[in-house]
Amino acid sequence: MKTVDNYNFAGQKALIRVDFNVPLDAQYNITDDTRIRAALPTINKVLKDGGSVILMSHLGRPKEGPAEKFSLKHVVNHLSKLLNRPVAFASDCIGDVAKNASSALKPGEILLLENLRFYKQEEKGDVDFAKQLSELGTFYINDAFGTAHRAHASTAVIAQFFPNNKCFGYVMSGEIASVNNVLNSAEKPFTAIMGGAKVSDKILILEQLINKADNIIIGGGMAFTFVKAQGGQIGKSLVEEDKLETALNILKTAKEKGVNIYIPVDSVVADNFSNEANKQTIDIKAIPDGWMGLDIGPKTEKIYAEVIANSKTILWNGPMGVFEMSSFEQGTKSVAEAIVAATKKGAFSLIGGGDSVAAINKYKFANDVSYVSTGGGALLEYIESGSLPGIEAIEK
Ligand code: AMP
Repeated sequence: MKTVDNYNFAGQKALIRVDFNVPLDAQYNITDDTRIRAALPTINKVLKDGGSVILMSHLGRPKEGPAEKFSLKHVVNHLSKLLNRPVAFASDCIGDVAKNASSALKPGEILLLENLRFYKQEEKGDVDFAKQLSELGTFYINDAFGTAHRAHASTAVIAQFFPNNKCFGYVMSGEIASVNNVLNSAEKPFTAIMGGAKVSDKILILEQLINKADNIIIGGGMAFTFVKAQGGQIGKSLVEEDKLETALNILKTAKEKGVNIYIPVDSVVADNFSNEANKQTIDIKAIPDGWMGLDIGPKTEKIYAEVIANSKTILWNGPMGVFEMSSFEQGTKSVAEAIVAATKKGAFSLIGGGDSVAAINKYKFANDVSYVSTGGGALLEYIESGSLPGIEAIEK
């Protein structure tokens, strides 16, 4: 893997694709700067070598060109504070404004370009737009794992203009190493924990994991499609009627391949989708009409905790229940605790996909697991397909 550690950036103008797609409040304050902090090591490596840095990113989903609320200028002051250095800003990511700002850049200086998605060409992967961006720097670094599954101008197409001067930043190389650790050199037993709302989002990934994992633990809304497919009564729980057969096929394939699939045995059910709803814990196959399962129950928690405790490699994607509501968070919390305990005993644990990351952060366990992925969709696509456009573009 070609990373920034393989190069000395003295005298280079490193064009770094970062992921500064951070949440902003109504006054444009950054409410979570995790992604900015994640990019600092790569930026600092280039600066320390004596190079200069040109940062490019997207922010939000602007539809019709430039818009105040999606401007990356809102990030400048905070970035400058984190780096303890001035950060220059180019109010356009291409054209004379960007060119002049880049030409003026001296070693040790930093320039942030305006939102790439103010141009439709970015998401279209336009070659000419990518070429214009490429002319701003002498070396290309991709450090935006969160968009590595997109073949956009700045994430993939641009790499062709740097045939010998391109590499991964630390965010990218860390993500790639951790997912490879799970998929290609997992110490056994390998347990994949899958949750979240829908089976349909997770079919491809389940099909891949059946070839790799020893145990697959299922929770969240998607579990009810499996329960119903096996003849259970699930009341008004979330279900995808058109995926009942898929669920049965997944179970069948798993059996053929000797993979243990765990479906919840009990559930915390509610009479409506609310934290204040009436609730009870019952057999997951016998949920009365009018009730819906919103969490796994204590018997399931115990079974899952045991499987996790005996695992050497753990991948977790998706909550076990509606963990955003305190009444239905216990199952997700107990799985998180089991992962932390297994990690302490030496297991490698990778947490990925938006909501399991949110859960790990909610319980303040981010430092107690092996790796928390920053790229939800990108991680899932990497597991599904074994590669990503942003990775291939560097490796080509
Ligand atoms: P996903 O984005 O597919 O990982 O789904 C995460 C969402 O699934 C979270 O917002 C959870 O609240 C929701 N969820 C988890 N379990 C259930 C459930 N039993 N019923 C409805 N929603 C659920």
